[in-house]
Amino acid sequence: MGEIVLDQVTKTFGHVQVIPPLDLQIEDGEFVVFVGPSGCGKSTLLRLIAGLEDVTTGEIRIDGEPATHTAPAKRGLAMVFQSYALYPHMSVKKNIAFPLKMAGLPQSVIEEKVENAAKVLNLTDYLDRRPGQLSGGQRQRVAIGRAIVREPSAFLFDEPLSNLDAALRVNMRLEISELHNSLKTTMIYVTHDQVEAMTMADKIVVLNAGRVEQVGSPLDLYNAPRNLFVAGFIGSPK
Ligand code: ADP
Ligand code: MG
Repeated sequence: MGEIVLDQVTKTFGHVQVIPPLDLQIEDGEFVVFVGPSGCGKSTLLRLIAGLEDVTTGEIRIDGEPATHTAPAKRGLAMVFQSYALYPHMSVKKNIAFPLKMAGLPQSVIEEKVENAAKVLNLTDYLDRRPGQLSGGQRQRVAIGRAIVREPSAFLFDEPLSNLDAALRVNMRLEISELHNSLKTTMIYVTHDQVEAMTMADKIVVLNAGRVEQVGSPLDLYNAPRNLFVAGFIGSPK
């Protein structure tokens, strides 16, 4: 499960409509990238899907049900924040276990889920360390681990790699793609980086001032950009 539908969704802050009526369909298991320049509404759109913002008009449906809950976890979604959102005073194990503790799961179940997540993310040897004793990439993996343990129907990433250095970014891109291949869970990934979009996405949604300029596979967008904005942004020779 992990189908997400946006039906004529709008968002207005004060008097400014930052998302004009927008339709979008995300299939179960897809890796979808929202790409566009800074300020175009990527984070707002992700926060609307997560339930961290209310839609002004329109409807979001998750697996066919109107999404009325106002927390990602209640919508069955996990938001992956940047690595600096970790608790510095807690071990890796406790950071990953935190959402499960909050949910009141028994300790034995928590242990097992944390172990499994650590295995998937190559963090088994680091469970007793504090975030400050980890590299940037390891910290980012802990942030992802905290999402994995809840077994969400979709993962939502908002520029998760933007404060990592270039080499590490390339590495983490591959790791997140591999994670998608093994979990096969819907992922929505927000970035302003065309290269990330082109290399990671099954489907790219190009945004410009809150509007969807084009939706398509990386190849579609490269070969047949619908307009100059898409062509310029995707870096096609056209
Ligand atoms: P992006 O993530 O693509 O950089 P955002 O979604 O953060 O863009 O912002 C889109 C627009 O909405 C921007 O003009 C921003 O200033 C505005 N905006 C975002 N959040 C708020 C808010 N809470 N209140 C008022 N304006 C906001
Ligand atoms: Mg943003």
